[in-house]
Amino acid sequence: MQKIIIGNLKMNLLTIAERDQYLESFKKELKKSKISDLDVVLCPPAVHVENFVKKNKTKNVAIGGQNIFWEDRGSYTGEISAAMLKNLGAQYVIVGHSERRKYFSETNVDANAKIKNALKNGLVPIYCVGETKEDREAGNESQVIAEQIVEGFADISSAKAASIVVAYEPVWAVGSDVIPKSDEIMQVKILLKRIFADAYGITVAEKIKVLYGGSVKAASAKQVCTDAGMDGVLVGRESLIPNEFIKIAEIINANQF
Ligand code: PEP
Repeated sequence: MQKIIIGNLKMNLLTIAERDQYLESFKKELKKSKISDLDVVLCPPAVHVENFVKKNKTKNVAIGGQNIFWEDRGSYTGEISAAMLKNLGAQYVIVGHSERRKYFSETNVDANAKIKNALKNGLVPIYCVGETKEDREAGNESQVIAEQIVEGFADISSAKAASIVVAYEPVWAVGSDVIPKSDEIMQVKILLKRIFADAYGITVAEKIKVLYGGSVKAASAKQVCTDAGMDGVLVGRESLIPNEFIKIAEIINANQF
């Protein structure tokens, strides 16, 4: 299966000049790179989605949002819908990121409603799951992750489930510069695939991409992706530095199996 690298630019690129400089530098680094068979997704803040779509002319680079609401339109002040992102040319959207769970108290049930709305509007959901440090210390990581998956995928047909991208992002590894060992990541992948196989059968389970996210850098890309048997990575801070992001992409691209 073709691997994928996703950049979550979070709440950055505050000015038009900063945004344009980022895009220029990204394009330059991509052109110089040796990336051939890799899907690349950039998720800028919603206010930049339209511009990123217009300025991105590269076939294997897609643009995504960082969050959506679960309704298409209406009296939901401050919210952005999947339909809006789709109509601007976005193809993906991040759902259930740990920062949304932490600062906005988003639940698995909220994520499920958002995933369903994203799918209805033709966006690929990138569903983030992962345990906190306390969950892991208590030995509860499998239970927490299983719950996030079962509740997040509730009432989603197998045809639709196959297109969802899942990002395993241990909360303690996001933004921390601490990363899990390859076998710890692989154990979560096995858990996820087992849940998907039980719910939807082996063929669908094989199609659901499972990524790793949390403090990925060029130096750790092989360890957290290839060695852990993952289908790609979700990159936060390093995606703001185009040459570092493309370096990670090259490592993922070169180590496909
Ligand atoms: C993220 O925001 O999804 C993320 C993985 O962040 P970082 O790479 O900065 O840990």
